[in-house]
Amino acid sequence: MDLIRTITDKGTPAISFDSNFYRLHFVNKSLTERWICTKFKCYCTILLDQDQTKILSINGRHNHSQQQTRKSSSKIDNLKIKIQQLEKRCQMYEQQLDDRDKKLTELTEENEQLKQKWEQMITNLIKVEQ
Ligand SMILES: [Zn+2]
Repeated sequence: MDLIRTITDKGTPAISFDSNFYRLHFVNKSLTERWICTKFKCYCTILLDQDQTKILSINGRHNHSQQQTRKSSSKIDNLKIKIQQLEKRCQMYEQQLDDRDKKLTELTEENEQLKQKWEQMITNLIKVEQ
């Protein structure tokens, strides 16, 4: 069974596998990708490797009959799809970087506050010593 790259009716990247459609759900820290079934309330997921070519695992069961497989797309369509998927991936990475930046800012502020606290304590200690 092959992974077929395609797009949903809404124009978002999707993959077709075993007569079902999946959309990108999550990019893991290890850069593997979790794809989730596009059917309403179906939580069947596929885990793809970093190169998005190999299926690492399939989780859950579909709560519906198989969807219709779309005809395979032309080379240009495939390229467009690939670009869309890379863009989506970039967006997700950017979001993750943003989150990390925020966390870093928080930690820096916390560190600064602790430093001030320590300096105050040392100043007080010196006063007591004198
Ligand atoms: Zn499903």
